[in-house]
Amino acid sequence: MRILVINSGSSSIKYQLFDMERGEALCGGIVERIGLEMGRVRHWALGDGGRREWVEERPVPDHRLGLAIVAGLLIDAEKGAVRSPDEIDAVGHRVVHGGERFSQTTRITDEVIDAIRELIPLAPLHNPANLKGVEVAREIFPRAEQVAVFDTAFHQTMPPRAYRYAIPTRFYEERGVRVYGFHGTSHLYVSKVAARHLGKPLASCNLITAHLGNGASIAAVERGRSVDTSMGFSPLPGLMMGTRSGDIDPAVVFHLHQALGLSLAEIDRMLNKESGLLGVCGSSDMRDVEARFHAGDADARLALEMYAYRIKKYIGAYVAALGRVDALVFTAGVGENSALVREMACRGLESLGIVLDLTRNNGPMSGEATAIHAGESAVEILVIPTNEELEIALQTRALVEPSPA
Ligand code: ADP
Repeated sequence: MRILVINSGSSSIKYQLFDMERGEALCGGIVERIGLEMGRVRHWALGDGGRREWVEERPVPDHRLGLAIVAGLLIDAEKGAVRSPDEIDAVGHRVVHGGERFSQTTRITDEVIDAIRELIPLAPLHNPANLKGVEVAREIFPRAEQVAVFDTAFHQTMPPRAYRYAIPTRFYEERGVRVYGFHGTSHLYVSKVAARHLGKPLASCNLITAHLGNGASIAAVERGRSVDTSMGFSPLPGLMMGTRSGDIDPAVVFHLHQALGLSLAEIDRMLNKESGLLGVCGSSDMRDVEARFHAGDADARLALEMYAYRIKKYIGAYVAALGRVDALVFTAGVGENSALVREMACRGLESLGIVLDLTRNNGPMSGEATAIHAGESAVEILVIPTNEELEIALQTRALVEPSPA
C-alpha cells in the first residue's frame, strides 16, 4: 500500500510517500515559498545508491501548482516511486485543529471539509492552509482515499478539570474557548514507541512526553491517553519555545496595550515570533544558544536556564497529575539532540524518582529508543526520535484498511 502524507502550510507543502509494506518513506520533500516571487522545491528519494536529493528554484504561485509539481516528482522515473498518481492508495493530511468534533483520524468527505472550515476561527493560520492541501489533493489524486489526521485529536481525552479555563462558562459553551493542545500526533507516536520499549501495552503506560522542537509542548499520558498538555487554546502557552513566549500573565498583554500603546496585532506578533529563546538572548535556534552558552555568553545562559526550568516545572506538575510515571520521553529537534537541555531539565528531580545517567545522556543515541536514566531511577528516561509523518501514514492505513478483528 502506498500512502502520501501531506502537511500543507500557508506557504509550503511538505510531503512523503510511504511504502506501508516496508514501513518507510520512499521519497519526500518540501515545496517552499508558495505565492512569493520565487519558490523552491527540495525533493529526495531512496535509490539503489542510497538517498539522493534535488533542489530547484521556480515560481510556485499557488498550492494547486505546488501539489501538481509534487505529483510530477512522485511519478518521475528517476526521482519518484510510482508510475501513476493512481498507484497512491490514500493521502493522509495533517490538519492542525479538529476542535471537539474530531477526536479520531477521519475519512474526508464534503461534510468533514465543511466542519474543518467551521473550525477556522480557532486556527485562523493553519486550518485554511491545511484545507487548501485537501482540496487540491482530491483533484490531483481522485482515486485515493483522503484522510485527515488532527494535531489536537490525541488530547481530546483530557478531563474537563484539565481543559477548562476558569473564565465564564459561556465562552467555552458558545465559543469553544478551552485547552485543545497540539503536537498530538508526535505525543502519540513517541508514546507508542515508549510502550514497545517498556514491553507493556500502551493502555497500561503512564508517560510524560516532552516534544521540544521550534514549537514545544509536554503531555501527561495516563494509561495511554493524554490527560493534560502544556499548549492550550493556541500553540502559544506552556514551555518556552524558539520564538514563542510560552506561559505569560495575560495582564502583560493589557499593560503593553494600555501603557505602551502596542496594538493587539503587534503584541500577537511579539509573543509568537519575537519571544522565547529569541526574545531573551537573540537566537531562536538551540544550537546557536548552546554554542554561545559554551562561549560564556550570559544572555544565552539565562535563556537556557529559563527554557530548562520551565520543562522541569511541568515535569513536576505532571508527576503530580499522574501519580505513577513509567517513563519520561524527550523528542523532537532539541529533545533528541540537546544533552545539555535534558541534563538541566532533569537536574534536581531525583526526589521524584527521575535520575539521569550523565554518561548515557551524552552518549550516542541509537534505534527507536535510547534509555538515558541511571540504574536507581524509578522512572525510565528515554530519547525517542519522533516521526509524525509515519504516524499519519500508519493512522491513515488503519482507517482505510482496518486490520481483521
Ligand atoms: P520543528 O518544530 O520545526 O519541527 P525540530 O523538531 O526540527 O523543529 O527542532 C528544531 C530545534 O531543534 C531547533 O531549535 C534546533 O536548534 C534544535 N536542534 C537540532 N539539532 C540540534 C542539536 N544537535 N543540538 C541542539 N539543538 C538542536
